[in-house]
Order: sequence, then C-alpha cells, then structure tokens
Amino acid sequence: MPLLEYLEESLISHYKACELCPRRCGVDRTASQLGFCGEGTHLHIATIEAHLGEEPPISGKNGSGTVFFSGCSLRCLLCQNYQISQEGLGREWTLQEVVDRLAALHEHEGIHNVNFVTPDHFLPHTVAVIRRLRERGIRIPTVYNLSGYQRVESLRMIEPIADIYLPDFKYADPALARRFSQSADYATVALEALSEMVCQKGFLDTFVREDDNEIVSTNDLSPPSREGVLARHLILPGQVQNSLQVLSMLFVEFGRELPISLMSQYVPVRQLPLDSPLNRQVTRDEFQEVFQHAQELGFRNLFVQYPGKVAGDTKPFLPDFSAVNPFPGNMRT
Ligand code: SF4
Repeated sequence: MPLLEYLEESLISHYKACELCPRRCGVDRTASQLGFCGEGTHLHIATIEAHLGEEPPISGKNGSGTVFFSGCSLRCLLCQNYQISQEGLGREWTLQEVVDRLAALHEHEGIHNVNFVTPDHFLPHTVAVIRRLRERGIRIPTVYNLSGYQRVESLRMIEPIADIYLPDFKYADPALARRFSQSADYATVALEALSEMVCQKGFLDTFVREDDNEIVSTNDLSPPSREGVLARHLILPGQVQNSLQVLSMLFVEFGRELPISLMSQYVPVRQLPLDSPLNRQVTRDEFQEVFQHAQELGFRNLFVQYPGKVAGDTKPFLPDFSAVNPFPGNMRT
C-alpha cells in the first residue's frame, strides 16, 4: 500500500480513541463523543482562502492557502480566532470540497503552499487532503500552523507530508499557561514538540536584511520558503516577563539561528473581568522591552510586527470570521 494511503488509514483509526493532542481525551469521535476540542469526525472549517497576512516567506506574493479549522485543542482565553476555535463558527466540508477549493486557489491565485491552521484535531483529514492534491499533481509545500502544544507522536505521523512548521511558543510560565490555556505543562510539551519539528525539518530558509537598525524581512527579499521551522511568539499585555523567559528558553535550546516571529497584534476580543490583564493591547514600551531582549540575545532571523503598524496604523487587527472576508487587506478572494 502506498505510504500516504497507509498513513491516512492508520491516522483515521485514531479518531476512535482520540489521543491526537496532549489532552489525550480517549473519546470515540466516530461515535459522536466529543473531547476538549469539541469536534467529531466531520471536517468543520470556517474558511479556505489565499492569505497574505502570514510572514513574508510563507505568504509570498500570491498568498498562502490557509485552511481555518473550527474547534481547537487549546482553547486559549486570549484567542484572536475565538469565533471559530470556541464558538463553532464554520460549516461542514467534504474532503472533495476542500481539495477542489485548494486546487482552484493553486490554479487561479498561485498559492505558494497549503497552510493548515490549528489542525491538531483533524490531522487525519490533512493527510487525506494532501494525498488527493498530490494525486492531482499539485505538489506545493504543506505548512502546519500550530499552537505549539503538540504530541511528538502526532508530529512523527505527519512527518512525511509536513514541509514547514509554524508553531507558537506562547508561555514559559506554567501559571500563566494554566490561567490562559488550561495547560500548565505547556512549556514542557512545547519545547519537546519544537525540538521534534526542528529535528525533522531544520530552520526555515528565510532572507533578512537590516534596515534603520531594525531587522526586517520584505516580500521583495523573501521568496516563499519550502521547508523548515519558524517559531512565533505573541506578546501579551502585562506579561513581559513571560516573553523574556520564552526568548531566553528558545535561545538556550536552539541558539540564535532559530527564526522567530515576534507578534504584538493582541486585541481584547471578549468580555473579561474588568481587572483582567487581557483587557488592553500591548504598549510600545512592552513591545520594545521584548524586542530589545531578542536583539541582545542575538537572534538573527527575526520577523517583527510592531504595535500599531497593523491594519493601516489606525485600527487594531482582528479577524471577523462571520464576514465574507475575515481578514480585510490580507486575503485574496
Ligand atoms: S484532538 Fe480533541 S478529542 Fe482528541 S485528544 Fe485532542 S482535544 Fe481530545
């Protein structure tokens, strides 16, 4: 039996006693039992588009073929995509519909890759999608856009079809991970997962240049990458210490060549207690402190999203998945 066919069949059996992610619920999703992610075995997807809002080596000029799955195995309090990750927005898609949509984006928009966003709970389906695309002769890189909270066993299962890993590294502080994502073991799990990703694919092939003392990457200099790992960190309001610890931890484990994307796009998206630290955006001072630490550590491949430089410098950036175009300015439809 061909490798991808075998892989697909063996992965689908995992829905029966699901341990695809570190929650390891053990539920039988084929019998309509739901685990922490809240998803069964039918593909539940909010949107599939050519997305221009990823880092330049991922989006390139034509966009990344993003598949935004509904449901999530982490369900963070701070999630910017909470409409789809926790409120069930999206609809059921057949495998054929997904493959047809991605094939159309490839043919008409020239997407540089297929980008599965928080796909942990649908990993078997991602294998099935890629297998069918390859059967059609479409062989663009596969991006796994991850929360960072992955099982090494699951990463090994998708290794034959994964080309690029785009994992978050959200927390070094266990108390913060428990409070915001119900995962006190986040740092331990994420370090192990990131090590596996780097071991499989190495660091992302990126191009950078220095501009006005700021390390930046531009579309002009960054053709779409084909393989490797780029770690992302979202700076949170009032949590600078966590960010500093994350960067130090990544430096100690992987050194300064690890490509890192520092993001500052956090916007409060839901009703939170008045005294919650998540009720505001990140300040420029907070961002600057984290950015300076990254520079002092000497990270060489640094992608930076400055506060207030998103969505035209005036409005905070926030997707709305109930709209026809959830990412105004960042999507080709
Ligand atoms: S994918 Fe969902 S059901 Fe499976 S272990 Fe994770 S949270 Fe539980």
